[in-house]
Amino acid sequence: MTAPASDRPILLCIDDDPLQHRIVERLIEAFEHSRYACEGALTYDEGLTALASGRHAACLLDYQLDDRTGLDLLLEARRLNTDTPVIVITVADTEDVDIAAAEAGAVDFLPKANLNPRLLERAVRYAVKMGATLKQLRALALRDELTGLLNRRELHTLLQDEWLRSARFKRPFSVGVADIDYFKRVNDEHGHPAGDEVIRHVGRVLEATLRRLDRVARVGGEEFAILMPETGRQEAIIAMERVRAALARSPCVLPGGGVTLPVTLSIGVGVSLEDADNPDALFGVADKRLYAAKRGGRDRVVANDHSPRA
Ligand code: GH3
Ligand code: MG
Ligand code: MG
Repeated sequence: MTAPASDRPILLCIDDDPLQHRIVERLIEAFEHSRYACEGALTYDEGLTALASGRHAACLLDYQLDDRTGLDLLLEARRLNTDTPVIVITVADTEDVDIAAAEAGAVDFLPKANLNPRLLERAVRYAVKMGATLKQLRALALRDELTGLLNRRELHTLLQDEWLRSARFKRPFSVGVADIDYFKRVNDEHGHPAGDEVIRHVGRVLEATLRRLDRVARVGGEEFAILMPETGRQEAIIAMERVRAALARSPCVLPGGGVTLPVTLSIGVGVSLEDADNPDALFGVADKRLYAAKRGGRDRVVANDHSPRA
């Protein structure tokens, strides 16, 4: 039984020759084992926009497009972080183009002259598999293994992006850096697995308490960072106090239920545009205030350099 066309995964065909679209469409319809819908783009710009949308199972890309090459498009799409696997299809069956296509990130290279349904179906099958693997790897590369939160590297990337947005629109965002108080005691008294459970617990409370647009990362052993877009100092303080209150209400219950551990955080906050003139410095300011919060007695939020809040 064939799936209705709308449910089928879509193959994107980017080619400036409408005839080639029809040829590819026929080849796809003649696949023996798999059913795909086909979508076409006739120009470089149309193709780039479609590819960047991430809606396609795979893309069949013509090597020669307008006055630019499909490889330029591929490189530009890669910069936009697309995961869609791309098969380059070309009239010019030369090794140079083959190698250049691989360098640009194509997963396969097929000369137009040899195309038949079986060959194309096989190439698409491998490409789609490769795309799924890439997606999984990318997701793993962004996440911290213990908590499933974002990892330090991804937070760093998001921080740079947020900084650019904030500077361009002159709207502040805030960063919180939070560290679990007296965490070493948990490890020492209850063992390392209990410590891990406390770290996971804090991650869950942070995610449950903050806004959907806020991003939470684990950036060190028992240290977390919170990126709060469109959030000024007062709002950031309120958000971080909400986290402290939520944690006070929900101590960590260790598996088995016999042991309940109260957990507190010390938190430093930095505000873009006001506290620093680059993203790394902003993180540094929040980190410095975190240590001021520790020195001030822990279990508190510090959001400026003058008056640590009690
Ligand atoms: P403070 O209130 O000043 O933050 O004191 P602390 O005890 O929390 O801080 P310290 O930096 O002395 O201890 C952090 C400990 O966290 C040391 C390290 O062994 C432990 N740790 C780091 N990563 C992990 C982890 O992934 N799991 C567990 N269980 N412990 C970890
Ligand atoms: Mg600590
Ligand atoms: Mg620490």
